[in-house]
Amino acid sequence: MQLTNRALISPSIYAASILDLRSELRAFEEVGADFVHVDIMDGHFVPRMAFGADHVRDLGKGTTLPLDVHLMASQPELMLDDVIAAGASVLTIHAEATTQLVWCLQRIRRLGAHAGVAISPATPVCAIEGVLNFVDQVLVMTVNPGQAGESFIPQTLEKVRRLRALRGKRPYLIEVDGSIDDETGRLARRAGADVFVSGGYLLKDLKGGLPILRKALEMEDDHAER
Ligand code: ZN
Repeated sequence: MQLTNRALISPSIYAASILDLRSELRAFEEVGADFVHVDIMDGHFVPRMAFGADHVRDLGKGTTLPLDVHLMASQPELMLDDVIAAGASVLTIHAEATTQLVWCLQRIRRLGAHAGVAISPATPVCAIEGVLNFVDQVLVMTVNPGQAGESFIPQTLEKVRRLRALRGKRPYLIEVDGSIDDETGRLARRAGADVFVSGGYLLKDLKGGLPILRKALEMEDDHAER
């Protein structure tokens, strides 16, 4: 994964109706999304259930965009081989979900995917400082994982700033996930985020919403350069 100055947008397929997945995937490509964000939820680490490796494989058949898979599951070590074999380009696992974190991150890279580590709102950045050399991406949850309709938690932006300061020459991208719209996206961009997951906000009106989000992120860049 290349560090880029451009903000990258990763629309979440979870917000789409399962009946519309094929057309939503096509629409993601048409509006210039950078990834497809796929949330896998196990009903244990988070209260909901969604998608599995077989679904990742099917989604991959329906798009040329890279699949940015976010595994919200306990013991990711039991699933990561299957999810990567199914076509995940980026596989992000939660720091809170395993006692085998470094092993998992190394395994993800060894299997040819980009490795990501995620932290829930209650987890501080210092919990993952020891693994930052093993990751291509850090995902900061800006709401509690697996909960619907939550409000953006502004205190999480401090974690984005901290990760940006820690990055130095390490090439990890900083991704934000949870209640991202043109306003919260702009705040996260200002704090230093690179990748923006957006679900409900974009899916309401993808063709109108994605250009608005991209424009808001670019406006923040213009503002920063002045
Ligand atoms: Zn996610």
